[in-house]
Amino acid sequence: MPTEHGTINPMPPTPAKKKPAKSPAKKSPSKKRSAAAELPKRKPARRDLDPERIESILTILRDTYPDVECALVHASPWQLLVATILSAQCTDVRVNMVTPKLFQTYPTPQAMADAPIESIEELIRTTGFYHNKAKSIQGAGRVIHEQFGDKVPQTMAELLTVPGAARKTANVVLGVAYGKAEGVVVDTHVFRLARRLGLTRSETPQKVEQDLMKVIPRDRWIQLSHELIHHGRQICEARKPKCAACPLETLCHAPDKTWSS
Ligand code: SF4
Repeated sequence: MPTEHGTINPMPPTPAKKKPAKSPAKKSPSKKRSAAAELPKRKPARRDLDPERIESILTILRDTYPDVECALVHASPWQLLVATILSAQCTDVRVNMVTPKLFQTYPTPQAMADAPIESIEELIRTTGFYHNKAKSIQGAGRVIHEQFGDKVPQTMAELLTVPGAARKTANVVLGVAYGKAEGVVVDTHVFRLARRLGLTRSETPQKVEQDLMKVIPRDRWIQLSHELIHHGRQICEARKPKCAACPLETLCHAPDKTWSS
C-alpha cells in the first residue's frame, strides 16, 4: 500500500536505507578527521600521570634547583609563621623588608598579642591587606601564647586552629621549620605549574594539593614545592613562560606553552 512515505518520496523502498547516510559526519572525511583529532586531547592526561614521566620531572627539578629553599627570612618557627601570613598576595622580598623591624619591636607571640593593632598595621602596611594581616598575626600571637605555651604547634590539626593559618601556611611551617611532610605547599606558582605539567586538572588549591599528594612520593613533598616556586618565578612565569629555556620542555604538554624566551 502506498504509505505516507510514498507521498514524501516517490521510491518507497529507499528511505529506510538512506537513513544511515543522513549523518553529515559520515559523509564528510574532513569532519571525520576533526572528530578524531578531538580524541588525543584526553590521552595526555593519562600519560601525564605515568610514574616514569613524573619521576623524570622530579629528577630534573631536583637537579636544576639542588639548593633551593624557603625565601622568607626567619629565625624561629614563630617568625616563619608570621612571615608566611604576611606573604599572602605579596612578594617574599617585600615581606623580608618589613619583618626585621616587626620582630625587633614585637619579638614574641605574647608581645604581638599585646601590641596596639595600629602599630602592627603601620609596621606591615607595605605588604598589603594590612588590616586583616595585622588581625591575623595578633590573633596568632594570642593563640600560640595562651594555648600552646609560646611554641608554634607541630601538627596540621593544631596549626589550623591558629588565626591566619590555612593549609598553605601550615604546610610551610611544618615543612620548613619542622621538616614534617603533612602536605604540599600550593601557592600561586605551585598551582599554576602543577596544572601546566599535567599533574592535576583540579581548579582549587585544596584539590591540587590532594592530587599532588597522590602522585608525588611523600619524601619529595617539601622540596618539590620550593623547586616549583623557584621554577615559577624564574622560568614558568604566569603570563609568558620561557619554554625555550625550560629544562622540562620535552615533558611538558601545557596548552599555553610559548616559544619565545
Ligand atoms: S615548558 Fe613552558 S609551560 Fe611547560 S613547564 Fe616549562 S616554562 Fe612552563
